[in-house]
Amino acid sequence: MVAIVTGITGQDGAYLAKLLLSKGYEVIGIVRRNHSILPEKLVYLGIIGRVKLVECDLMDMSSVINIITEYKPTEVYNLAAQSSVGISFHQPIGTIQFNIISVLNLLEAIRLSSPNTKLYQASSSEMYGKVKHLPVTTDTPMHPLSPYAISKASAYWTIVNYRESYGLYACNGVLFNHESFLRSPNFFVKKIISESVKNRSNTEWILKVGNIDVKRDFGFSVKYVEAMWLMLQQDTPQDFMICSGKSITLRSIIEYVFNRLDIPLARYKVDSELFRPTDIDDIYGDNSMAKNILKWEYDCDFYQVLDILIEEEEKAMGKSKSQEK
Ligand code: NAP
Repeated sequence: MVAIVTGITGQDGAYLAKLLLSKGYEVIGIVRRNHSILPEKLVYLGIIGRVKLVECDLMDMSSVINIITEYKPTEVYNLAAQSSVGISFHQPIGTIQFNIISVLNLLEAIRLSSPNTKLYQASSSEMYGKVKHLPVTTDTPMHPLSPYAISKASAYWTIVNYRESYGLYACNGVLFNHESFLRSPNFFVKKIISESVKNRSNTEWILKVGNIDVKRDFGFSVKYVEAMWLMLQQDTPQDFMICSGKSITLRSIIEYVFNRLDIPLARYKVDSELFRPTDIDDIYGDNSMAKNILKWEYDCDFYQVLDILIEEEEKAMGKSKSQEK
């Protein structure tokens, strides 16, 4: 079993690679540049020597065809993307170009040179945006509210189109926000936890935040990558909602983290300059299809996930301080 993982240097790519290795796959990770600096998330999980990293420009059709032809992978997990909603407002063209064309290149390469390869596409709840009815299901109409969401919606329909037109085993995992210690520092939950752990005893420190009264459906990346794998083990390809099924405000996350770390609540301030041009007020999904068909087991309460993340952050920060000495 050979699996290609694009975006292997990201949060989900690293956890998914670890899961696939534990299941006996040969894992080929696609990277944009094979630097001399080792990808830190793969190092952190202790799997750097166990995956083969291959350089490939996913925007270049012939490079993608070469990779698919050479490895004839059993499965491809396409996780590479400009993945930040905030950045997509500053880089709309780059986000839309990469997040759509890379998917099309993979689909074409699979169709032309390895039609039995199964493809997982990392879709996002952001596609649903301005929802009228909750919870979100695969029947909910899409109303994207950012360039990122537009790119993911387009990629979603491209996957559906290749499945219906050419019979490819291609499916969308519509994942809602999911977090871990390996989340990049520009994302809300990671930022709140790492900044708070770092500055807990600094009385001068003030955390500035944007609109924290919006609600999101948060989950745990380590468990969400299991659903990605399950989606490619079915008899027929289908799209699934992967979520916790509940939403909570960003404010409640800050207050939970501050209380746990004994930081006074007066140390966070809302700054309207940090508000996004458009934002989703509340969103949560229906995970019953994933639970019933995939037998995906998920019952994590997000405050318990926060406990795990805070502990891991404290441990990692303690380790790096002792290495500095
Ligand atoms: P992430 O940590 O930001 O990782 C993104 C990955 O994509 C990295 O490996 C990055 O490579 C790669 N990438 C970005 N731009 C690229 C480019 N131009 N060429 C090649 N590679 C590029 O994201 P994640 O949280 O693991 O998410 C994985 C996927 O799920 C993404 O597609 C994301 O949009 C989607 N998703 C995530 C969530 C979530 O809550 N995490 C929810 C729904 C959907 P470098 O290391 O080289 O930058």
